[in-house]
Amino acid sequence: MSLELKEAIKIAKNQLSDAGIHDAENDAKELYCNLMGIDRVGLMMRWTEIIQDNRLDAYFDLVEKRAAHTPLQHITGMQEFMGMTFKVNENVLIPRMDTETLVYEAVKKLERGGDVLDLGTGSGAIGISIAKLCPKTKVTVSDISEAALALAKENAAMNKVKVKAVRSDLLSAFKSRLGAKKFDMIISNPPYIATEVIRELEPEVREHEPMLALDGGADGLDFYRIIAQDAPNHLKKEGMLLLEIGHDQGYLVPALLRESGCFDSIEVIKDISGNDRVITAHFTGHKKK
Ligand code: GLN
Repeated sequence: MSLELKEAIKIAKNQLSDAGIHDAENDAKELYCNLMGIDRVGLMMRWTEIIQDNRLDAYFDLVEKRAAHTPLQHITGMQEFMGMTFKVNENVLIPRMDTETLVYEAVKKLERGGDVLDLGTGSGAIGISIAKLCPKTKVTVSDISEAALALAKENAAMNKVKVKAVRSDLLSAFKSRLGAKKFDMIISNPPYIATEVIRELEPEVREHEPMLALDGGADGLDFYRIIAQDAPNHLKKEGMLLLEIGHDQGYLVPALLRESGCFDSIEVIKDISGNDRVITAHFTGHKKK
C-alpha cells in the first residue's frame, strides 16, 4: 500500500484523536517532520507526495507510540524552550511553557550579571537559557540525578553556553568546610505536585515523566520547606530567590518564606494563562537564629 502524505497524516490524526490525544493534528504532523528531519514548510512542500510502504511503516510505528500516550517529546527527543532547543528524555521533566515566566523574571533581575544557581536543573533548560540571555552571569546547574546532569551538560554544549554542573541533593553539596558557596540568585522549579494528586495527572506525565521531578511530598511543599531553610546560607546579602510554584501555592509558599524570617519583598507572579506561577523573594541578609 502506498499513500499520499496528506492521506497518511489524516489517518494518523484520526488514530491519535481516537486515542484521546489532545492536539492530534499537530502531533501527526510533528511525527512525520521528525521522521524525515524536515520542518513544517518541508511538510507542506511534500503534501501530495506518494509515501512508500517502508516509510509508512516507520511513520505509523511512531504514531502508535504516541497513541499509547508516550509524550511527543520522548519520541522526538526534543523540546523548544525560550526559543532554544533542548534534548529531553525520561530522566528529566519536559520543559513547560509556564516555566518561561520564571526565566523572564530572572533575566529582568540579572541585567548586571551575577552568580546564579539553578537548583534541580533537570534538562538544564532554566540555567542554560539564563546563561544564553544574560552573558554576564556565571551559571551553576545542579541536580541529584547523575543522568539529568549528563543531559544538562549536553544541552549546554548544544546551545553553546558554559555552565558549571554540580551533583547535589538540593543545597547539600554547596556546604563546604571552607564556608558555604554563596550566589546572587538561586532559582528553582522543584517538584511540587502533592503525592496524592499525581495519579490524577495525564498518562503522559504520570507514566513517563520522572517522579523525582514531580513529587513534592504529602502537601507538595517538601522542597520549598528545605529551600526556605537552606537558601539563606547560600545567598549573598541582597541575593534573590526565584521559585516556580503550582497554581494553588501562591499563598502557601510565600507564607513559608515569611515564616523563615530571612526574606522580604516577596512577590507572586502569574504565568501567561493567568495562574500564580513564580515567587520572587529578596534575602534580607538576616538568618534565623
Ligand atoms: N508543572 C509541572 C506539571 O504540572 C510540574 C512541575 C513540577 O513539579 N515542578 O506537570
